[in-house]
Amino acid sequence: MDDKKNIIVGAGLVGSLLGLTLLRKGNRTTIYEARSDMRMSAKASGRSINLALSHRGIKALEMLGIKEQVLQYGIKMKSRIIHALNGDILVQDYGTREGEYINSISRKTLNEILMNELQKIQDDAIVFDTKLESVDSHQNEFVFSSKNGNRIVEKNCRVFGTDGSASNTRDYFLNQSGHLRFNFSQTYQNYGYKELTLPASPSGDFQISSEGLHIWPRGHFMMIALPNPDGSFTCTLFAPFYGLEGFDSLRSIEEVENYFTKYFPDVFTKFDDLAEQFFENPIGNLVTVKCSPWHHNDSVLLLGDAAHAIIPFYGQGMNCGFEDVYELNRLIDEKKNWVEIFAAFTDCRKSNSDAIADLAEDNFVEMRDKVGDPLFQKKRAFEVELEKRFSNYYSKYSLVTFRPDLPYSTAMKRGRRQDEILMNFCATYATPDLDHAYSLLQEEGLFG
Ligand SMILES: Cc1cc2nc3c(=O)[nH]c(=O)nc-3n(C[C@H](O)[C@H](O)[C@H](O)COP(=O)(O)OP(=O)(O)OC[C@H]3O[C@@H](n4cnc5c(N)ncnc54)[C@H](O)[C@@H]3O)c2cc1C
Repeated sequence: MDDKKNIIVGAGLVGSLLGLTLLRKGNRTTIYEARSDMRMSAKASGRSINLALSHRGIKALEMLGIKEQVLQYGIKMKSRIIHALNGDILVQDYGTREGEYINSISRKTLNEILMNELQKIQDDAIVFDTKLESVDSHQNEFVFSSKNGNRIVEKNCRVFGTDGSASNTRDYFLNQSGHLRFNFSQTYQNYGYKELTLPASPSGDFQISSEGLHIWPRGHFMMIALPNPDGSFTCTLFAPFYGLEGFDSLRSIEEVENYFTKYFPDVFTKFDDLAEQFFENPIGNLVTVKCSPWHHNDSVLLLGDAAHAIIPFYGQGMNCGFEDVYELNRLIDEKKNWVEIFAAFTDCRKSNSDAIADLAEDNFVEMRDKVGDPLFQKKRAFEVELEKRFSNYYSKYSLVTFRPDLPYSTAMKRGRRQDEILMNFCATYATPDLDHAYSLLQEEGLFG
């Protein structure tokens, strides 16, 4: 459409997918990445070792013809596997229809596939060890510095900011927030997270079922675990920073071991070096970032976590970022110029990223607390029967996770109303009737 140079800031998951998309469209693109090339190191760096990849993310991979290449490394998770404190295990299927499962995938493997694919088109597309240092919004100048001390100034380019939740590209907007009427909020949870590896058994097998995402709900804190292809699990403990059962109460080996013996007794003995890992691994922050607009003319566009970081409790942050790329691709094909593309992008994505941010906050309470609640369990079991009987009924989780044809905002509105109706219904009737519930939901058009 024009001959402006494309610059992408950050070759994480979203930046790499975006790079591949732009290169496939014939747009010459340079991606600056602050870190070293992860393919040169055996160890994963950065946040969350594995992630749940689901239909919205897969839709974007399919668009680029790399769905199967990625999914061969995924492990299917069909259910939530809930561990009660007394050792009871409850298995709740995520969905009832063919293909309704989520995939545990290594962040590093996925990112590497994307980098390899984009470098097949343009070998020098990614410039590693080079960080965006500062932005001069008035001169439209982006200053990068490399590890070896080089300074690169990019001027009058089209810049895509995919540099994550602590984005420096966002400074372009923050530096002139009054002029651009830029809204920005950043909200940290009082909770942090710590990752711990549950190793494979000596024979290399999984020590707990690999068919689901494990949850140990403990009221105001919880642990989850996702399987890895080598037989291990990545467990993530989410707990308050301070106070009762908080990270600050875990200062000695004894305190950590007592905590795990008390709250996670069925898995505690399966770790080799729990306390060692506990003190070695950092505590991560959980932040929600909301801002708008995400674009300025055809100069700068924010995507992925840089535009909308969310807390991880719906497993949708990356999926939402991948959906950003899918939608941008669609708009590039539809619109006449980049000004229109960027404006339409903010327009169509903002309300949806706000919706998934809110849903993720709801789901934190649901996962750590409600999944252990008898009424919630009764409603969930009833809803599974409803989905089995009426194939055009989708639970809120299914609407969000398995219906990429529906915007997040629609999934949220519809899912919340369904939950309200079914919770009341299950509280009212000892043995709730499927046909009766169907007619109530049908009255409000909550099908299809
Ligand atoms: C504990 C946890 C679990 C999660 N689980 C899931 C899940 O199951 N499913 C899911 O869909 N999502 C999940 N997420 C969310 C997911 O990790 C993010 O949404 C996703 O990583 C966003 O990708 P991104 O490319 O926008 O940003 P990032 O992954 O943060 O990548 C940003 C990239 O930019 C680079 N960069 C940063 N600053 C600069 C700079 N100044 N100059 C140049 N480069 C820079 C970084 O090095 C990095 O490579 C989880 C998040 C957390 C914290």
